[in-house]
Amino acid sequence: MTQPLIDLRTTLYGGRSLFAIQPIIEGTNIFTCQVPCAHVIYKDYRREVCAQCFAYAASNSRSIDDPRTWGIKSCRTNAETVWFCTDECKVTWESGVIGPLIAGVNALLGKAKIATRKNPDRDGYDPILPNGPPTQITQDYIDKAWADVEELVSCRARLSSYCSTMNLEDMELEISRSVASAIVQRYVSDHRLASLATSSIITTSDLWKEVLDLQSSELPNVSLRPYILAAHLRVYAFLCYSLPKHLRQYVPTVRHILARDTGNAFGIWDGDNRDEMLGWGLWAGASYFNHSCCPNVKKTRVGRTMHFTTSRSVEIDEELCISYIDTNQTVTQRKRDLQNSWFFACRCQRCQSEEPDEASPH
Ligand SMILES: [Zn+2]
Ligand SMILES: [Zn+2]
Repeated sequence: MTQPLIDLRTTLYGGRSLFAIQPIIEGTNIFTCQVPCAHVIYKDYRREVCAQCFAYAASNSRSIDDPRTWGIKSCRTNAETVWFCTDECKVTWESGVIGPLIAGVNALLGKAKIATRKNPDRDGYDPILPNGPPTQITQDYIDKAWADVEELVSCRARLSSYCSTMNLEDMELEISRSVASAIVQRYVSDHRLASLATSSIITTSDLWKEVLDLQSSELPNVSLRPYILAAHLRVYAFLCYSLPKHLRQYVPTVRHILARDTGNAFGIWDGDNRDEMLGWGLWAGASYFNHSCCPNVKKTRVGRTMHFTTSRSVEIDEELCISYIDTNQTVTQRKRDLQNSWFFACRCQRCQSEEPDEASPH
């Protein structure tokens, strides 16, 4: 048996983080995260992205007028049509439980979305956050907004009357699909319909616990982007309205998933050049890696799996970090990106050496 290379430790500054427990040479695969616990491929890309391995059909030359569609598809009754890059991917997807269940739920969400059309006779009044956000967002304000929407969804008749004219936005549907994919996985794991693959060092097979262990960014996220709260509440009401009965028991966890999406999700890109973002995914184990602007680990997605490989040799007890952002930017741009999307001020070595000395008299 090989000796473990890495260890999860609690740090004083950044929650839990991964450390090397022996010297590791460059190019070593130190961690693998098998499947995203939530994901969505954007509507515009669905025919061009393999539902099993996320391979993109038009890697070099996508034209809006002539998108290249994968030739193999699965059209099940009561499920959304999905496309595959190869017969092998189709067979893998069809023999699994989660993919077809997600396609079934997505079909329901798609139908329900059509039914949320705006009623032209209504004056645009939305009972969710009718007064708009206050200047200073507090946790109490967010909690009260969620309590109000709980009240709305507790009465089925009122909920369907609300949803039938709520005019759900396209992006709100994408968020709903992402949350629903997580709910399906929880349902499957609760019912032991499949043994979910676990990563090499996280021994728990409970993917769901990993999701809840992620850091919530609800307050900083809503404070920075107050409009996101209304979108989340609408997604919640929409899911309460449209999820099938057997999944409704999981709606109380919608808020937990939404609170963890920002700051933990990674874009699903067309390739290393990152020309087009095809959707996003939440690889729960990946979030154990802290950020550094001079990272020693790089992440590579192969199909649904995220691999983490050392990008240089690492000493014993060195912290293992990936970069969450484009590290070719200036220190000011990097700090801004990290603050806006991950809500922290980077104190990595590179930032400390590059940033203007705040203590200096100028
Ligand atoms: Zn494929
Ligand atoms: Zn930094």
